[in-house]
Amino acid sequence: MNAPHRLRLDSAALVTNWRALAALSGPAACGAAIKADGYGLGAVEVARRLAHAGCHDFFVATWAEAEALAPLGLPVAVLHGVREEDMAAAREGFAWPVLNTELQVARWRAAGGGRCDVMVDTGMSRLGVSAAAVSDSTLDGLEIGTLMSHLASADEDSPLNARQLAAFTALKGHHSAKRMSLANSAAIGIGRDYAFDLVRPGLALYGGVPRAELAGTVRQVVTPEAQILQRRRLQPGDVIGYNALFTAERPTEVAILNLGYADGYWRGFSQRGAARHGDARLPVLGRVSMDLTAIAVDAAPDLAEGDWVAIDYALPEAAALSGMSQYELLTGLGKRFDRVWVG
Ligand SMILES: *Cc1c(COP(=O)(O)O)cnc(C)c1O
Repeated sequence: MNAPHRLRLDSAALVTNWRALAALSGPAACGAAIKADGYGLGAVEVARRLAHAGCHDFFVATWAEAEALAPLGLPVAVLHGVREEDMAAAREGFAWPVLNTELQVARWRAAGGGRCDVMVDTGMSRLGVSAAAVSDSTLDGLEIGTLMSHLASADEDSPLNARQLAAFTALKGHHSAKRMSLANSAAIGIGRDYAFDLVRPGLALYGGVPRAELAGTVRQVVTPEAQILQRRRLQPGDVIGYNALFTAERPTEVAILNLGYADGYWRGFSQRGAARHGDARLPVLGRVSMDLTAIAVDAAPDLAEGDWVAIDYALPEAAALSGMSQYELLTGLGKRFDRVWVG
């Protein structure tokens, strides 16, 4: 643990976000989507903290992700279901599949069944069996914990939301699942109607704000920090970085950070992002490189080689600046960071 850059991960904010999303969902249970290694934070550490707070429903994408969590002994559902290649892992019992296709349903039943969830497509046309398959005999004999569906446009005020809600509501009474689940983070922001028995937030747990209604509720969890590799002074006319995007108009104090697009600090932050030292805002100068980024440090005369700065990474603002989605800003955070939990 001595990389020249690290992610400061706020345990209290993660748990507070989960509790707030649970409260917004009324009596519905609140789960956690921890696929893509907990959206880049580290799935094991996220799951451990949320389980301690009372979360009983975890969602990953693949069996490899489920296997990495197996030592924790938590209830984990695998959103992509079961391929033939997954059956050996699936029969071990450390997780169960969310069946998405009629072939997956048949495969699971032929292997002896057992606990599963089922995804139904209500209009996104991504994963899931048809609504018709829910009410005919397709799912007969399955031991279904949760019947779920997923919204295409929950982060917008689209008529598709009400249409998908109606299609999902119409399945009530036509299935044997113990619970129904529709809402991701954004749908929790739309309203209680979308909560059903279980909500499945991901993004908002980690500080993402997919809808304005959640803006006052969600706290920032992730702050990248980087160490200064070199400090230098530019003279008027000096340029900096690839393609010399920045030219100094006056003497300018510069620090070169151990951070770049290979870490997920994307080129969209070139000339737009910023770091912080106390109250001082230290703007990015020139182009972000693979492993290095330059910032202006005129406002921080005490900063020297080896010192650390925090990177501005409030997700809605960082997404607007960089042109990346809040999801990409989280899941792109690279392997080189030390991940340091505080709070
Ligand atoms: C990823 C995912 C979620 C979580 O979505 P967020 O927008 O990150 O809250 C919920 N349900 C399913 C099926 C998903 O794939």
